[in-house]
Amino acid sequence: MQKLEMIYEGKAKKVYRTDNPDYFWVEYKDDATAFNGQKKGTIDNKGIINNKVSAVFFQLLESKGISTHFVELVSDREMIVKALQIIKVEVVVRNIVAGSLAKRIGLPEGTILPRTVLEYYYKDDALGDPLINASHIAALELATPEQMEFIKETALKVNEIMREYLAPVNIDLIDYKLEFGTHKGQVLLGDEISPDTCRFWDKTTGEKLDKDRFRRDLGNVEGAYREVLRRLTGE
Ligand code: UDP
Repeated sequence: MQKLEMIYEGKAKKVYRTDNPDYFWVEYKDDATAFNGQKKGTIDNKGIINNKVSAVFFQLLESKGISTHFVELVSDREMIVKALQIIKVEVVVRNIVAGSLAKRIGLPEGTILPRTVLEYYYKDDALGDPLINASHIAALELATPEQMEFIKETALKVNEIMREYLAPVNIDLIDYKLEFGTHKGQVLLGDEISPDTCRFWDKTTGEKLDKDRFRRDLGNVEGAYREVLRRLTGE
């Protein structure tokens, strides 16, 4: 497959067209942003780590029957994915209170949620990705009710699969964000699954192994990302 011109540059990735219209070529960048782009920086080797970590999770999920956009890794920081028409809904799944939820509902970070919480955000940078609900999604026609039912079920299955996979490497999955898109009429899991988009805490020490180290200036950001990759692959 040939990498052709760039068609989109996001905060963490560049997307290129390929000679096959069914596939995109994705390059993961070291650039890091937080707070809707207000904080900017770089995390050395982040692109390489997130590319590899995402590939591990996508392959894991595929092996458990979840359809994703992942096709194959093509270099340290590049993967081929199926071309998606992105659904403009970010799906957040939460097991333990952290981040914006702690502020919104006034429970301290680290509170275990007796039931998994599912949230939707309207993927719109200019609006700052506001929290929305299923009726907003229907009214804005961002996805059909059938697609949202499938997305909800998939997001919760992903939760079970990832928690079970992460437990033996001593990581608690606190929360994470998923994005979906359509490919030839089918809804697929897209984007990335990495320390940029998930909160990972060491089960024993509670040490944060994710982007909160960057957001909150906790130091050793690259080391934490590397530690996640090491626990997943031994690399
Ligand atoms: N998240 C993300 N992209 C976003 C917003 C959130 O990947 O634009 C992830 C974030 O890393 C965390 C989860 O979604 O794992 C929940 O994030 P939260 O709503 O607590 O917002 P934050 O504290 O990250 O601003």
